[in-house]
Amino acid sequence: MTKNSLDVALRPEDDKESPADYAGGDRSTSLPGDLVSVSHGFERVEPRRGLLAVHPQRWKLWCERKVVIAYVLTVDIAAVALAAGMIAAIPVHSGDLFRFGLLAAGAVVHREVVRQIESLREQATNNGLRTNLISLWIFAAVLSVPLPLVFAVTVVVYLHSWYRGSSGRLYRTLFSGATMVLAPTAAVAVLQLLQPTGYPIIPQGAPGLVVLIGAGTVYWLVNYILVVGAVRMSDPLQPVRQVLANPSDQVVVAASLGLGIALAVMLTFQPWLIAVLMITVSALHRALLLPHFQQAARTDSKTGLLTAGFWREAAGRELERARRLADPLGVLMLDLDHFKSFNDRMGHLVGDQLLRAVADELRSETRPYDLVGRFGGEEFVILLPGVGTAQVEHIADRIRERVSRLRVLVDSPHDRPVTVDGISVSIGAAVRPNDGDEIDQLLLAADGALMAAKAAGRDRVRLATR
Ligand code: GH3
Ligand code: MG
Ligand code: MG
Repeated sequence: MTKNSLDVALRPEDDKESPADYAGGDRSTSLPGDLVSVSHGFERVEPRRGLLAVHPQRWKLWCERKVVIAYVLTVDIAAVALAAGMIAAIPVHSGDLFRFGLLAAGAVVHREVVRQIESLREQATNNGLRTNLISLWIFAAVLSVPLPLVFAVTVVVYLHSWYRGSSGRLYRTLFSGATMVLAPTAAVAVLQLLQPTGYPIIPQGAPGLVVLIGAGTVYWLVNYILVVGAVRMSDPLQPVRQVLANPSDQVVVAASLGLGIALAVMLTFQPWLIAVLMITVSALHRALLLPHFQQAARTDSKTGLLTAGFWREAAGRELERARRLADPLGVLMLDLDHFKSFNDRMGHLVGDQLLRAVADELRSETRPYDLVGRFGGEEFVILLPGVGTAQVEHIADRIRERVSRLRVLVDSPHDRPVTVDGISVSIGAAVRPNDGDEIDQLLLAADGALMAAKAAGRDRVRLATR
């Protein structure tokens, strides 16, 4: 089984706009090869949506190893059986419904408010497990309403995230929801030590605090073990450290449990103050993370250049302005020459160092407002606002020459660092309006010119219009 297929099986519903939770809403994994909207060059390939994806026989789960299928189904069935038993055994009073309503509504509003930032976060943390704050609502429910209504909050949360996410990944939502049935049930079992007489349960004094911490720990552990088990089983080759995820992510879980307790207390004494807590949580969430993830989402980590997706967005805006002001605009497509053979000789890691060095050259040879992006592997794209046919060739040739003069000190596979030179790049250039008035037309024209440059012997510039 490949690494991708492992994670594919157990990732939450993939959705760039609304990343859902992996197992239990607390943790999720995502791999670049399994994005909902796959960035393929500059094309976004949207997943097929629709009710068809609900059909269990279409689940990708069935492509997994038998042990993974058995594990997922066991967790799902255990959760359903447990939920059914608890619903039959535990009465719900009408007084509980008000608190349930507030929790369910709060959870949905919270998820909606942080949708954009969570989407960026998913793009920025492509590899590895990701935590979120959804336990805030579910743990608050554990303390505030009987178990059947806790399950109802879980159902609302996961129905919402499934609806918002890709419907093609229903079984992952079910697995996540199942962990969020088992973890709260375990936490409630610990809370029984307090012999509560009704809801909400607000533990008193030091013994109450100990039980509360115990319940939170059990809740976290059950969820963590179930999810890590799933990840480990679906990808036995994945390094343990990566499976266990970043310790700082566990701080996020601890924070969400702590906030859940605060929420439960608030719900008991001043339910309407929840709005204040929610504004605070959402504002902090955005204020602390948004700039960071916006930056991460638009920067290619290997080269520090713009990602293909962000380049395209920014290029669209520049093109719009060029049209309005009737300004020219140049687009360059660059592809390193014979890069594969360089990789074959020196290894991909050294190849990456070279990519980084070339990217630095491209940035320093262009103006601050030119847009330099990484189009794909060792292909780059540069947008030159205000540059028309007269200058584009000169600029492209200046860049080509600068790359050809580049000398990079790289780690050698044979111990000592070595200096690499003789790097060359082929460039295709297109300009607005001659070669097109849409970004795709310009890219296509520049790509054609790039191919002509390659065919003519490489290390040269070709214009689309010639
Ligand atoms: P040419 O463009 O001159 O026709 O030859 P080429 O060998 O460069 O051919 P091509 O552009 O098709 O090959 C791209 C190669 O770039 C394949 C792969 O080995 C390498 N490559 C792509 N992405 C990366 C990357 O992120 N890091 C490294 N080190 N190499 C990459
Ligand atoms: Mg290439
Ligand atoms: Mg190449």
